[in-house]
Amino acid sequence: MGSRSTIGRRLARGLALPLIMAVCMGLDLPENGPVPVDNPRQLPSADTPPPVPEEKPAPPEPSSPPADAPDPEAKDAPAPSPSKPAPDTAKPVPDTAKKPAPLPGITAPKEDETALAHCEAQLRKLGAVFDRVEPLTGENGCGIEAPYRIDQIVRGVTLSPATQLRCQTALALARWTGSVVIPAAKALPDTVTLTGINHGSTYVCRRRNNLATGKMSEHAIGNAIDIIDFEFKGRKPIGIVPRAGDGNIEEAFQRAVRGGACLHFTTVLGPGTDASHDDHLHLDIAERRGGYRLCE
Ligand SMILES: [Zn+2]
Repeated sequence: MGSRSTIGRRLARGLALPLIMAVCMGLDLPENGPVPVDNPRQLPSADTPPPVPEEKPAPPEPSSPPADAPDPEAKDAPAPSPSKPAPDTAKPVPDTAKKPAPLPGITAPKEDETALAHCEAQLRKLGAVFDRVEPLTGENGCGIEAPYRIDQIVRGVTLSPATQLRCQTALALARWTGSVVIPAAKALPDTVTLTGINHGSTYVCRRRNNLATGKMSEHAIGNAIDIIDFEFKGRKPIGIVPRAGDGNIEEAFQRAVRGGACLHFTTVLGPGTDASHDDHLHLDIAERRGGYRLCE
C-alpha cells in the first residue's frame, strides 16, 4: 500500500516537472489553449486605442458628416495650417493663379413678408428690440433682402455691435439666448444675470473662414453670427476661448451654451473645431438635406 502511493507520487512528480520546465522555458503551448474570455471587450485590446479625454483641443480635424449628407456646407472650411499660404492649399485654380479667384456665387434666400411678420412677432414676444433696415446687396449673390439691426436680443440682453441679420437668424439667436444662455448664467455661482452678448461679425460677403478659395460663408447671406463673449451683472464677462480641461465654471458655462446652441442653429463651431474658431462660436442656420446639423 505504502509503496504503491510512493510510486504514484513519484510518477506525478515525474510528469509535472517537465511540464513546469516547459512553461518556464517558454515552450509554445497549444494555440487553442484556454483563454479567459470573461471580458470580451478586452480581446482586441492590441488595436484599441486608449481612451482619449473628451474634447481635448487636439484634433482640428473636422468630423465628417454622414456620406449622404450634403457636403459640410456651412462649415467654415478648416483653416489651413498657418505655415502654408492659403492659395497653395487650394484646389486647382485657373491659370491666373496670382489673381484672387473670383467669388463663387451664392443665393440669398427670398424673404416672404408673411413669414417676416410672424418672425418679428416672435422676436417682440421675447422682448427683442430691433429695426428692419435697407436691403443689402453684395457681389455674386451676397446680400440680405430684409436685414435686421438687433439692439436687444431678448428682454434685458443687449447685442453689440450693430448687426445685419436675417430675421430667422435673429430669432434662432433670441431663442438660444432665452432658453439656453440665460438659464446657464443663472446657474453660475452668486447672483449673476446675463446683460449682453458681443459678436465679431454678422453679414460679410466672403468665403468661409476668409480663405482665398472655397465656398461662400453663411455670413454672406445673413444666416450667421460669431459670438465673442457674454456680459453679466454680478461677475466679469466670459469670453469664448479654448477651455477644454480647465475644469472651472467658465468651461462649464461655455460647454453648456455651445451644446444648447445646436438645438437652435444647424451649425455650431468653436474652439477645437480648427484654429480659426478658437475665439468665437460660429452659429448659423444653413439648411441642409435631411435637416443635417453640424455641431462640433
Ligand atoms: Zn462665422
